[in-house]
Amino acid sequence: MREAVAALCARYGEDYWRRLDSERGYPAEFVREMTEAGFLAVLIPEVYGGAGLGLIDACAIMEEISRRGAHAGACHAQMYVMGAVLRHGSDAQKQRYLPKIASGELRLQSFGVTEPDTGTDTTALRTTAVREGDRYRVNGQKVWISRVQHSDLMVLLARTTPLDQVERRTHGLSAFIVELDQAIGHGLDVQPIDAMINHHACELFFDDLDIPADSLLGDEGDGFRVILDGMNAERILIGAECVGDARYFIDKAVAYAADRVVFNRPIGSNQAVQFPIARCYAETEAAALMVERAAMLFDAAERCGAEANMAKMLAADASWKAGDMCMQTHGGFAFSREYHIERKFRETRLYQIAPVSTNLILSYIAEHVLGLPRSY
Ligand SMILES: Cc1cc2nc3c(=O)[nH]c(=O)nc-3n(C[C@H](O)[C@H](O)[C@H](O)COP(=O)(O)OP(=O)(O)OC[C@H]3O[C@@H](n4cnc5c(N)ncnc54)[C@H](O)[C@@H]3O)c2cc1C
Repeated sequence: MREAVAALCARYGEDYWRRLDSERGYPAEFVREMTEAGFLAVLIPEVYGGAGLGLIDACAIMEEISRRGAHAGACHAQMYVMGAVLRHGSDAQKQRYLPKIASGELRLQSFGVTEPDTGTDTTALRTTAVREGDRYRVNGQKVWISRVQHSDLMVLLARTTPLDQVERRTHGLSAFIVELDQAIGHGLDVQPIDAMINHHACELFFDDLDIPADSLLGDEGDGFRVILDGMNAERILIGAECVGDARYFIDKAVAYAADRVVFNRPIGSNQAVQFPIARCYAETEAAALMVERAAMLFDAAERCGAEANMAKMLAADASWKAGDMCMQTHGGFAFSREYHIERKFRETRLYQIAPVSTNLILSYIAEHVLGLPRSY
């Protein structure tokens, strides 16, 4: 499967990604080919037209995309957002959406959680969905929601019971599957954000958006739980992407260090050049093992919150450090867009912050694994 993904990626060389980055374009052809080849549907059960494979297989795909210089961020959400529909959707919702997501007729690439005023404090989010007969009326605002303009469906998290009326902060939130073609221009306004990387992130403004009551995923008030599994899958898959990025940087650095001659010898014959590459290699292999462990636990339906968080953090650290090492190995040429490294360097920086920042992962480990007092 890795070879097949690599062969597909080879048809979209690094110049393709550089051009899209400068034009802020979306890799529609690449995503279509990935879908048609079945790679984006590996997690969808065969009965709905997918491959019925595990997260471990999905990780191999995401890692390979990143390692080949492509930008996996253009297509990764299809894999983990779908899990909310698969695990918590009604039979009717599954029949309605999953076969079309598997075939590529519908793109589920958007996941609307983050808000401008509440950020990481998810349970404080202010977007509301109020039940009125057989409809919900949605009001509020989201920020940094990726690929909304390149998606047919979005899973949205909104508050259905006010925070001061619930026993626990995680209660009273609900998840919805929103059909974007019916929403945009009818209560949902989408504004692209001019950002450091080509991630197609947008601000969303909900002004009395009307959605049918059967858009609800799972039970009303239970939305936090609905998205939680998907969040673990997201962290593990993004960990795999970071491992791919790190391996990309290491491959580039090794090739350049062996080839570039200064002072009459390859720069890679200096220990000060080769040791950082070797260290990044060791750290990437360790991170890859944690990603694999988290994916195996997820596939076995075991608790994997700690491992998913650690996998994402260690892999993001490995890719960020490898990116820095790769820049240093390339000297001034690292800054030339022609070498592609600077684009990947910008792209991999995201994963120190999104989908969850390093600090919040450390807080999770301190509190939930080590039993230390809650710090916030
Ligand atoms: C390109 C891009 C794409 C994105 N795509 C999506 C998407 O598709 N869907 C979506 O819902 N969101 C998306 N996000 C949002 C992303 O998940 C958030 O930016 C991230 O979770 C951090 O939230 P914030 O930006 O509000 O930071 P804040 O919560 O404001 O935090 C700012 C800083 O303070 C630190 N901090 C905050 N509280 C604490 C604390 N208690 N202890 C220690 N440190 C703390 C954080 O670690 C962080 O470094 C995207 C973001 C970007 C940049």
